[in-house]
Amino acid sequence: MTKGSYWLDGIQLPTPTVNPLPTQVDVIIVGAGYTGLCAAYETAKKGLSTLVIDQGSVGQGCSSLNGGQVAHSIKPSIAELSGKHGASIAQRIHAEATDAVENLRRLATVEGLDCDWRPNGGFLGAYTAKHFDDMRREADAAHKAGNSRITLIQRQDVHREVMADRYYGGMVYHDDASIHPARLVCALYERALKAGVVVSANCGATAIERTATGFLVRTTKGTIAARKVLIATNGYTGPLSPWHQRRVIPIGSYQIATEELGTERVKQLIPHARNVCDTRRVVIYLRPSPDGKRIIFGGRAALSERDPSRCTSRLINMLESVFPSLKGVQASHAWVGFIAYTFDTLPHLGEQDGLYHCLGYCGQGVPLATYYGMRIGQQIAGLKEGKTALDGLRFQTRPLYHGKPWFLAPSILVYRALDSLGW
Ligand SMILES: Cc1cc2nc3c(=O)[nH]c(=O)nc-3n(C[C@H](O)[C@H](O)[C@H](O)COP(=O)(O)OP(=O)(O)OC[C@H]3O[C@@H](n4cnc5c(N)ncnc54)[C@H](O)[C@@H]3O)c2cc1C
Repeated sequence: MTKGSYWLDGIQLPTPTVNPLPTQVDVIIVGAGYTGLCAAYETAKKGLSTLVIDQGSVGQGCSSLNGGQVAHSIKPSIAELSGKHGASIAQRIHAEATDAVENLRRLATVEGLDCDWRPNGGFLGAYTAKHFDDMRREADAAHKAGNSRITLIQRQDVHREVMADRYYGGMVYHDDASIHPARLVCALYERALKAGVVVSANCGATAIERTATGFLVRTTKGTIAARKVLIATNGYTGPLSPWHQRRVIPIGSYQIATEELGTERVKQLIPHARNVCDTRRVVIYLRPSPDGKRIIFGGRAALSERDPSRCTSRLINMLESVFPSLKGVQASHAWVGFIAYTFDTLPHLGEQDGLYHCLGYCGQGVPLATYYGMRIGQQIAGLKEGKTALDGLRFQTRPLYHGKPWFLAPSILVYRALDSLGW
């Protein structure tokens, strides 16, 4: 019998009750994950009365469930972004992705946020020969630009990074790191409380209405008036805010933790304890557990959303395809969380009809949600340092899309076929 999330072994997510709820605040933030808690910290620091509500416990969404991998992670390349938005914005968006990692590093190593920060670096395996050629070009360009923090790994040297035979080579990103996701969200919660934020768990927002001075937010625990409201619901964005729901694509990401393999065996498989991903279209990611005894493995395991325990065998097969020596391994834990994709694969933050939003990290929110959460909080507080390169970019939707991604299953089938053909 598999258990749920490995990250919640021995950790109780906070479920604060506020009795009575305030009837009026400056700012209400819907969603108590990394985004909501980082935004709230900024608004409270600036003296705005701030209430964060969540329909469940604090951090119960992706923020306690993710893989804990921290990487420079903006999906579109600088070239793609330059074509759409110009070279300057493209460079700034990528610079902010670096800032996001540095922001989290500072929170962990300078401010001492208790999140098990490990500067272990990341390995990206080339799934096809063509992907390796692309990597070689990327490494050359980065080295010419003076970036010595990435290393190209030739095929014959891949075993120094992962004991896997299927990669044509790879790249090591030395500035990548890992964290314990549930500890990070608990630490951000504690930090927000210290700044004066009020947090109410098990308090779902059910409707938002405009008033002359701001908004009325109806919740399962009462109605609150607020001057400003932030939607920080990412992959759990629902009918509460239809405009946002039409712009984020919720996608289930499934993870397992293996049974205990022992530190020696895990070290043989991933000698430097790096985060590992590869370049196939249907993403997989893995890393050692913090105690080094298990492998935590994730990926898109189902065509449509389902009970994570029913995806365990598929995830095990995917893991065995990376490490054939793990044939027969069992999973002790299996869980799922909902990430938020966007149509341009960029996060989006800003204000629409008076409502603020910050979401759409495309599966990379550990650094990006903590960073852009901070920035949107600064924007709400009227601070100029809240400005970002993403401000003002059009937040796209598509005709006939209302929040249920009917196109997901056929897309995954096509991507799986292309991956298996090695394209
Ligand atoms: C399995 C998995 C693995 C991942 N791995 C990585 C990784 O290794 N690295 C990485 O960078 N990113 C990863 N991610 C993505 C990352 O976890 C997210 O991008 C990030 O946590 C988003 O934080 P958030 O605060 O915006 O959203 P969430 O943490 O999802 O919080 C949204 C909150 O909104 C609440 N909510 C929704 N509607 C309402 C309502 N009406 N009223 C009140 N509350 C509401 C929800 O209950 C939820 O708590 C992963 C995600 C998953 C699911």
